[in-house]
Amino acid sequence: MKSEVFFIEVKPSDPEARRNALQKLLERVNPFSDYKKDEFIPLKLTIGDSQCVYNVHPELVKIIVSEIKKFKAKPFLFDTNVIYKGERLNAIDHLALAQSKGFGYTKVGAPFIIADGAFGQDGKEHAIDSDYIKKIKIPSFIGSLDSLVVLSHATGHILSGYAGAIKNIAMGMVSKPSKQVQHSSLKPHVIEKKCTSCGCCIKICPAQAISSDTLRSPNKAPFDKHKASHAVIDQTKCIGCGECLSACKFDAVFINWSEDHDVFAKRLIDTAHFILSKFKNKLFITFGFDITKECDCISTKNELIFSENIGILASHDPLAIDKAMVDLVNSDKDLFKETGLLDTHKTIFEYGRKKGLGNTDYILVKI
Ligand code: SF4
Ligand code: SF4
Repeated sequence: MKSEVFFIEVKPSDPEARRNALQKLLERVNPFSDYKKDEFIPLKLTIGDSQCVYNVHPELVKIIVSEIKKFKAKPFLFDTNVIYKGERLNAIDHLALAQSKGFGYTKVGAPFIIADGAFGQDGKEHAIDSDYIKKIKIPSFIGSLDSLVVLSHATGHILSGYAGAIKNIAMGMVSKPSKQVQHSSLKPHVIEKKCTSCGCCIKICPAQAISSDTLRSPNKAPFDKHKASHAVIDQTKCIGCGECLSACKFDAVFINWSEDHDVFAKRLIDTAHFILSKFKNKLFITFGFDITKECDCISTKNELIFSENIGILASHDPLAIDKAMVDLVNSDKDLFKETGLLDTHKTIFEYGRKKGLGNTDYILVKI
């Protein structure tokens, strides 16, 4: 049976048009009417990094919070800490950033919590039945609550190709140790003849895995372009976050994607599948506005927007909503491919369907 994906087209960048469209979509789909009085409703979202301006807008979140409250339920927003440098590396800076980006209680009407604790290490560990990942650590409230709402901003992503609901869940609902395992199959190398010794990758690497040569620690001696011929990645220290790939402007960082992205995609699916199995009622809302090549962790206001605005999608099926967004973006031609993004999402859809995460066949219900 095909899954329903509700779709309201919104082409303008006008904030009011976006708010009106969301309100209309919620009125039509009426997704919150089964919520019980006093039921906690977790809303997963990412606020984006400090330079990102295209993340899900707090005004849109406020509308969703307000609709949920009409049913006397108790919505709260949550995210987890990230594994790379920035203001979302720990809960203290992360919460301050949320406040400054308009996600404070007084603005959106619901509290925002960092679900994996002060340093991203908290949570409950579970064994998982997967050939690709053996255990995951997830926020401890998962398993105690019936409902989940996942709010995603549609973007490209350096590893997953498309980033929407599934990436938001699989990477965004696990603690740091599990994020690192998910990335651990990705082992970049430096192409010596392309490396200009600019040092950008060394500055950004969260694991201090890159140095100017194999003997010198980047902590003890700063990168010296006059002495070093190229950067070197210590494979034993690398956690596979992919930050150096984004940082290098000279195409000098190389990852063997044909070997790595298949495992990465399957880990995402197995993780998302396990997490979603813990909730009875699941709703996914994805905003196809300002669709950038890089995800909200990396993008800035100068980021390449590679697709016209699409609109808002809502579904109870995470695979169907992601597939529908990719199909809408690619309605004329494969814009992901043209933009130079990987097609990992194709593996995600195929493996996700096989594992029963959802349907790749869907009915687009236009509103
Ligand atoms: S992927 Fe690159 S930036 Fe990330 S830990 Fe490995 S070497 Fe460092
Ligand atoms: S960012 Fe690229 S060019 Fe610069 S040191 Fe690293 S690998 Fe070399």
